[in-house]
Amino acid sequence: MSLSQMASTLKLDWGIPDSLIEIALEAEEQSRSFEAKCDFVAGKNFLKVLRGFESAGAANAHLTGSHGYGYFDAGREALDHLYAAVFGGEDALVRSQFVSGTHVLRTALFGLLRPGDHLLVLPAAPYDTLLAVFGLRPAAGSLNEWGVKVSTSDIHGFLEDGFQWPDPLKAVFIQRSKGYRWQDSISIEQLSQAIKKVKSRSAATVVVVDNCYGEFVEEQEPPEVGADLTAGSLLKNPGGGICPTGGYLVGKRALVEQAAAALTAPGLGKEVGPTLGVTRNFFHGLFLAPGFVGEALKTAQFGSALFKRLGYSVLPGSPEKRTDIIQAIELESREAVLAFARGIQSAGPLDSSAVPVGAPMAGYSDPIVMAGGTFIQGGSLELSCDAPLRPPYVVYVQGGLSSLHGKLGYLLAAKALQESAPPAKRIHSVSTKYK
Ligand SMILES: *Cc1c(COP(=O)(O)O)cnc(C)c1O
Repeated sequence: MSLSQMASTLKLDWGIPDSLIEIALEAEEQSRSFEAKCDFVAGKNFLKVLRGFESAGAANAHLTGSHGYGYFDAGREALDHLYAAVFGGEDALVRSQFVSGTHVLRTALFGLLRPGDHLLVLPAAPYDTLLAVFGLRPAAGSLNEWGVKVSTSDIHGFLEDGFQWPDPLKAVFIQRSKGYRWQDSISIEQLSQAIKKVKSRSAATVVVVDNCYGEFVEEQEPPEVGADLTAGSLLKNPGGGICPTGGYLVGKRALVEQAAAALTAPGLGKEVGPTLGVTRNFFHGLFLAPGFVGEALKTAQFGSALFKRLGYSVLPGSPEKRTDIIQAIELESREAVLAFARGIQSAGPLDSSAVPVGAPMAGYSDPIVMAGGTFIQGGSLELSCDAPLRPPYVVYVQGGLSSLHGKLGYLLAAKALQESAPPAKRIHSVSTKYK
């Protein structure tokens, strides 16, 4: 489905002005070869996932789930086997008891680290909620409070020859996706270089990767380039837009076991945890995930091309740099961010008439505006946008289970910006500037 086939409906039913449709068609045309690449990578990853189902011996009987303590849950065990096979780890821990991505990462780190250990974190400005986990922002129960020393570096500084290693160093934590920061995300190629650098200095240093938003974007996953422990959220890519909650960890068997002890209790580890009927969603979500990630990537690239044509700074600005499903757009004012969020919200299947506003959120130091109208609360493989209300006023857009829906969301966001007061100055200049 392309926008050109839908142009008259977009004009009549959604009130998208001709001038915007014209620019959108150019943006879509420009993204054509990237869209073909998305289909290719989605196909490769889909086949990899399907082989994983075979190797895990996934069966209809596994979909039922357990209750109580969840002992002897064969479906849960098959699911762990499936994730380990797909991501290339020895073992995995896929659980609905993980309440968020932050919780999975916190569990991985507390399983691994002991008081006095030193952790190096890349990049220097990690994800907002992780600042509290590390103790880089004071918070009760942080790693810092637990006696772990944390230092940070950006990836470029780390890869340079003269990098000053903290010594001794227990582990390196690498966040792939940019988070709410105007910085490049870390590609699998860069991740591979960073892991080689860590391991050539000391094979015993553990590499933990925050894979949030990176799953199935490239043809390889972090464990395939040497990460020891990799984690992510099922409200993002691998949940396939239908997992109602949960997170996963995959990697070396001993590290997964330590994390399981931190999630449940030492001695209990992976053996407990009722699945309560979500197993079917977990299997089904992973089966769907590669295709939906492909749709989200087409959405993101369209948004990048469209807003670049409209005169805005976008990150990434070129398809070659894409290693996650996040598209950042700098809007420069609070009013513009709110207008953009209204546009995305108005495209949502649910609550399309809601008006997003900024509000304080647990784990974040600035008020955040979130827009989406998603089926899963906060589900972000679904079309959604988030923005911390702080300069330089950047929106972070992600998801799109259908790229047609994603593209419509961007068009409604652009329209809302045009209709909001002064920041629309750039848009008026577009037809002369970009033809
Ligand atoms: C989303 C995200 C997380 C975890 O976030 P939750 O909202 O707790 O699921 C961690 N790191 C990055 C880079 C993320 O994008």
